[in-house]
Amino acid sequence: MQLVDGQYQIGGINLLDICKEFDTPLYVYDCDKITDQYKSLLSAFKDVKVKINYACKALTNINILKLMNQLGAGLDTVSIQEVELGLKAGFSPDKIIYTPNCVSFEEIQMAVDYGVIVNIDNIETLEQFGHEYGSSYPVCIRINPHILGGGNVKISTGHIDSKFGISIHQMRHVERIVANDKMNINGLHMHTGSDILDVDIFLRGAEILLQTASDYFPNLEFIDFGSGFKVKYRDNDIATDVESLGETLSKRFNKFCKDYGKDLEIMFEPGKFLVSESGYLLVHTNVIKQTTATVFAGVDSGQNHLIRPMMYDAYHKITNISNPEGKKRIYTVVGYICETDTFGWDRRINEVKEGDILAIHNAGAYGFSMSSNYNSRYRPAEVMIYKGKALLIRRRETMADLIATQVEQEL
Ligand SMILES: *Cc1c(COP(=O)(O)O)cnc(C)c1O
Repeated sequence: MQLVDGQYQIGGINLLDICKEFDTPLYVYDCDKITDQYKSLLSAFKDVKVKINYACKALTNINILKLMNQLGAGLDTVSIQEVELGLKAGFSPDKIIYTPNCVSFEEIQMAVDYGVIVNIDNIETLEQFGHEYGSSYPVCIRINPHILGGGNVKISTGHIDSKFGISIHQMRHVERIVANDKMNINGLHMHTGSDILDVDIFLRGAEILLQTASDYFPNLEFIDFGSGFKVKYRDNDIATDVESLGETLSKRFNKFCKDYGKDLEIMFEPGKFLVSESGYLLVHTNVIKQTTATVFAGVDSGQNHLIRPMMYDAYHKITNISNPEGKKRIYTVVGYICETDTFGWDRRINEVKEGDILAIHNAGAYGFSMSSNYNSRYRPAEVMIYKGKALLIRRRETMADLIATQVEQEL
């Protein structure tokens, strides 16, 4: 969002007007920002055959999926329902990669029936897959290289006792299974969940994957380096230097392809990087509450709508868009849920009055998609700013939605 003539805008549209039209709490997504992020990745990897698969668990509104499809992205999915949403949004099956963890084998069979790319992260499942499909259906293997980068332990997946991936130390076993059923391994994958802050550290993990590729798998078509792209949450945060990563990794990858004897595709599956900064949760200030120690701004939202601050201690910047020129004061911004649902402690925010609209930043990824109806509250509506228009892409819920799946018995 930009401050233009004393108004916060996205794509020329005043955010306060959007709140008047669609009410609060409201998720707003800036499609231009998503497009820019996608293009910056493409351009950083212009020297290799790159494919960007949007990790859609970050934000699954079908209109966002359609936008990604329009941009030319593929789709990274972690459940059969996400696969189905992707197909509904118009993705062809060969552009969808299915990377489940601990799902039933029946669900993997469904993915095969849909014809999507299947990524397996467990030796037993790989063996079962081999017995069932032999060489008839290609499969990708998710490897855990056991590298630990930066980032929150709750979102890191690369450690030795992580439930994700097949350990790099089990490749001989994998080799036997693959040989036994003459399996067609078409891809190698890693997603460590760590933030890429240091390109060299990331390359160490990548090196392990490339080494494994040339040691064990001669028929690959792609190598998928997962995500780990970090975005800014605070003004002075360091984000992943995509340009430098692209330059260094492309060079290394091209050399690898030469040695391997085949031009493989390089894939990534960013979620946050594509959508986090595009999104804002707009909330209405219900009360200002002064206690002996703190001034609280209580808003019409809470952990039921955006749980990242409470679950991951994530920092989300907060702006008072109703008072762009106001004097800064210190507030603790809290929700209306009967839990300690604090969006931000001791924040310097332009003076907040009852009725002011606050914008919570970085709400595009893992915002709506992790929301709930806790406290029997309705989830927010969603709007996207697309080609200078504010489009409603999810209407506000009603009591009928809340009880739609309940079965009322005669008691
Ligand atoms: C969640 C997830 C991603 C996306 O992670 P971000 O941090 O949002 O970029 C990518 N790949 C897999 C397999 C995931 O589970």
